[in-house]
Amino acid sequence: MFNVIPYHSSGLRINDYLPYLLPSFLQKKGMAFNDLWKSYFPDAAVYPQPSGRYALWHFLEHCQFEENSEVLVSAYNYYVMIRLLVQKKLRPVFVDIDPETLCMDSTDLEQKITKKTCMVLVTHMFGIPADMKKNIALCEQYNLKLFEDCAHALGSTHGDRQVGQHGDGALFSFGIAKITNSLGGGMLVLNEKLAQTYTNPQYKVSSLLSIMDTAVRFVISLVSTPQIYGVLMAPLINLSVKLAEHGHYGLRNFVSPSQNDAFYLFSTNNRAPYKEFMTAMQERQLSRLKKNIANRLRVSAEIKNRLAHTSQLRWLDENKFGIWNGSYLGVYVPDKAVFDKHLRRHSIVCNPQEFFDCSRLQQFSEFSTDCKKSTYASDHLVRIPNYGEMSETNISRIVAAIESLYKP
Ligand SMILES: *Cc1c(COP(=O)(O)O)cnc(C)c1O
Repeated sequence: MFNVIPYHSSGLRINDYLPYLLPSFLQKKGMAFNDLWKSYFPDAAVYPQPSGRYALWHFLEHCQFEENSEVLVSAYNYYVMIRLLVQKKLRPVFVDIDPETLCMDSTDLEQKITKKTCMVLVTHMFGIPADMKKNIALCEQYNLKLFEDCAHALGSTHGDRQVGQHGDGALFSFGIAKITNSLGGGMLVLNEKLAQTYTNPQYKVSSLLSIMDTAVRFVISLVSTPQIYGVLMAPLINLSVKLAEHGHYGLRNFVSPSQNDAFYLFSTNNRAPYKEFMTAMQERQLSRLKKNIANRLRVSAEIKNRLAHTSQLRWLDENKFGIWNGSYLGVYVPDKAVFDKHLRRHSIVCNPQEFFDCSRLQQFSEFSTDCKKSTYASDHLVRIPNYGEMSETNISRIVAAIESLYKP
């Protein structure tokens, strides 16, 4: 019961936290932000951000699109990104997904381009590269801006290059649930042309807020470490689920923080700024990113292979348009609620409630569209834990739990 398998781990080691914990005079000088990312983005400019979403916000401010211009965006998405578009007085136009990659379907994309379209927002969902060849060609043909959401996609490549530098701009996120985690922070990538006229804004937030914001993330990150998760996090979440079922609705946010929140508004004053120690935490993790990815791919392949005979499962085609980084392992199941409950009984978390068909959300009803494959993903897709440091015993537990659900 204490041996719960969480749905995600960035694979942090205790000494990865030292840049945060130790005063700077006790640390050797690390790399500068720009130097750290130079090899990933040789011809683009990079700017640190308090979190990933700031990058999209600043990109939109920089481009100054006309009010009510249309932004083409995947319907199966992180709803916060759509909120930002609406808040900026742009109109999200939902494009359906390719069910094998969870990314924007380029054929549907082309059909939805109009005279009012100003930009395409491509998400490399679960770290799976989208069909960039087609997306780039369409954006050039129709003179549209191209922005890549690479929150899951650090280490994913298209044509041998890190995704996020094939269009005009991109966002990366270094939050707790991402492949590298520096207790928050994010990055805006801009192509050379847009970078010429861009200055990165600095915000003032209270130092108490800044300290608390990072400290809370430190605690959550620490207790999300797989060995500690079962003892601390899982019982707390279970208790919150029970209390939430009995009407303590406030606890729902704790149980599933990324759940659709109709009242969410982006603001520049409620988040810790980007901090020096984040660069040092990233440097440590980037030095073993290749190994982290190789381990994730090995665990994913083993789980997929051992469940290959389970006909109820439908797997994705992660390398269809590029090379996947193993960020999140997704699979379609017949009944998500039944699957979730069954795995929970086996102390495995599959977190089925983070991404949705945004075209069906009440808060975007004004932009509602029929996107059948996104609706299907919303209703049937779950995530299987696939972190690199997973033991053989735990891989076997996952396989056995799923087999026992679908045994004839
Ligand atoms: C995490 C995430 C982001 C950025 O989130 P921040 O919390 O602002 O760092 C953007 N898009 C997707 C798909 C994400 O999962």
